[in-house]
Amino acid sequence: MSDIKQQIKTLDKENKAKLAEQIKQKLQQRKTSQATDYDVVILGGGFAGSTLARQLKLLDRDITIAVVEKNSFPYREIAHKVGESASELQAHYLSEILELRDHLIENQVEKGGARYFFTFGNNKDISQRMEVGTKAFPPVPGFQFDRGRLENHLYNENSAVGIKYWENSKYQDLIVGSPNKVLLNRDDEQHEITANWVVDATGRGAVLKRKFDLKESSEHPASAAWLRVGFTVDIETWSDSPDWQQRVLKGLRKVGTCHLMGQGYWVWIIVLPSNATSIGIVADPAIHPLSDYNSPERFLKWLQTHEPQCAEALREDIEQDQIKDFLAIKHFAHGCKQLFSEDKWCITGEAGLFLDPFYSPGGDFIAISNSLICNLITQDLQGKPIASMLRQYETSYLHLFRQYLKTYLDQYPVMGNQKVMLAKITWDWAIYWGINAFLFFHQNKGFDWNWLSACIEEMNSFKELNEATQSLFQFWSKLESAEWNDCMYSLFDLAFLYDMHTGLKADLPPQQAQQQLRKNIQTLAIISQEYAKHVNSMLESQHPESNESNPANVLLDILQKIDIPVTDDNRQIKMQLQQMLNLQSH
Ligand SMILES: Cc1cc2nc3c(=O)[nH]c(=O)nc-3n(C[C@H](O)[C@H](O)[C@H](O)COP(=O)(O)OP(=O)(O)OC[C@H]3O[C@@H](n4cnc5c(N)ncnc54)[C@H](O)[C@@H]3O)c2cc1C
Repeated sequence: MSDIKQQIKTLDKENKAKLAEQIKQKLQQRKTSQATDYDVVILGGGFAGSTLARQLKLLDRDITIAVVEKNSFPYREIAHKVGESASELQAHYLSEILELRDHLIENQVEKGGARYFFTFGNNKDISQRMEVGTKAFPPVPGFQFDRGRLENHLYNENSAVGIKYWENSKYQDLIVGSPNKVLLNRDDEQHEITANWVVDATGRGAVLKRKFDLKESSEHPASAAWLRVGFTVDIETWSDSPDWQQRVLKGLRKVGTCHLMGQGYWVWIIVLPSNATSIGIVADPAIHPLSDYNSPERFLKWLQTHEPQCAEALREDIEQDQIKDFLAIKHFAHGCKQLFSEDKWCITGEAGLFLDPFYSPGGDFIAISNSLICNLITQDLQGKPIASMLRQYETSYLHLFRQYLKTYLDQYPVMGNQKVMLAKITWDWAIYWGINAFLFFHQNKGFDWNWLSACIEEMNSFKELNEATQSLFQFWSKLESAEWNDCMYSLFDLAFLYDMHTGLKADLPPQQAQQQLRKNIQTLAIISQEYAKHVNSMLESQHPESNESNPANVLLDILQKIDIPVTDDNRQIKMQLQQMLNLQSH
């Protein structure tokens, strides 16, 4: 103690004042905590709830947290929940921010990238289907996980650091006040617990969205059904063709998030670390009504018609009663009018919003909203004002959600078109690596107005650019299609895409990160310019009658606002894109 006194004596005036302020804030924080049962009550102990609890505790080990969960732990492995594929943003959140790297490496599976197999003929020979993906593990990792295993691990770790799980406890009501009161029901008994902050992470339970009537329906109509089988479905065994086998690193396809693509649908195949496999059909109901695949029997029948090799891989074992679960969900996309409130409640995860599982953005959105909620709560508990930050977060998060919607809305009919989908996949990953994930890897900078304001003009023009490019894909897919077969397109052959992907890990100081963001937006501008030029050249030669409704012209107008310097790098990007667009059809 005398040591500390000695040290304080040596501080200058400014540092003494800083220390006094810190002590005052700590005392204030403890004082508020004493008046309540917990600093934070999280409703729902699933992915979003348990990761948020861990993140808060890592930021402040004195914070008191309760998680109210209607079920009890441990959860079943294999057949717990969907949300088994993590792209780079989510993987970074889990591995680095939540410090779960060891668990992911030892108990889950490093993802062999996202892989797409396009329809060719009757889809009876995988080696004939054009494959898009990478040839080796992506340098910035993703993961595939067994959700039961992950959530059990979070529960054990959280409990060990004093986070209280109220298991078998169902949320009943929230009485907003100071403090907030949560009413819950456990073993037929009513309980009341108080907290400064309450966060809804009840997934589709969406208890606060219902209470405050915040539901916002989504125009995106896609539906899905999925099952888990208790054995491995390894797509690599579907063909003996030596050429096909050697096209990518041995074993990579088995651990990739595999997408079987067709007109109006895609099918996921994800091998889980629990030696089981998750298989799901996601489709536009106007092309494939959910009633065609909403029971295990219909699911299998649907696969026999559209994806016979996948059906074949399942059939034998399914007769041996190997289906571990089955679920179907109609019109899964939903929005929310408000997620953060000055009354000290927030909504995170699927309890708030969800778009579409293509590109696996569910966990990314959770990583972002949890991080924002952590900022709000920790600032508030330190007695700092949060009102303006809260409003910024609300606007930006909902903006991001609405912006992402364009990636999916009316795009399912495009999924059967190899050529346009190759262009779209390139575009969508470039946005993801170049902007959305880039900002998250760089301390969630997309939500830092001071930092972002330097690039705001470019960001605004990028928004218009994305909308016009997404419309272009729909238009383009009606004009051109390709019948490529027996080939692979490696996304990292596009050097700029590889650079954007690896650039996630670049440790850039703030100003350089701004420059990089601008450069990434320029690259996106070049990509869309090449797409627009390609569509225009096709129209001139083949379909002059369609030119009036051509979104390429809108795109070219927007591009006039973006400065694209003529450099060797940019010339290279154009050349790579032209090569991709002029691939020869077989
Ligand atoms: C078809 C499909 C595929 C998907 N694939 C992916 C993917 O590959 N990658 C990805 O990142 N995301 C994916 N998602 C999204 C994924 O589901 C979410 O990322 C994630 O599971 C949502 O987590 P959550 O914690 O919000 O909800 P959940 O994991 O559902 O957790 C909610 C928790 O709240 C509890 N609860 C509910 N009501 C109450 C109550 N009244 N009282 C107390 N507790 C309650 C529940 O028991 C549960 O434990 C997919 C979604 C769909 C629809």
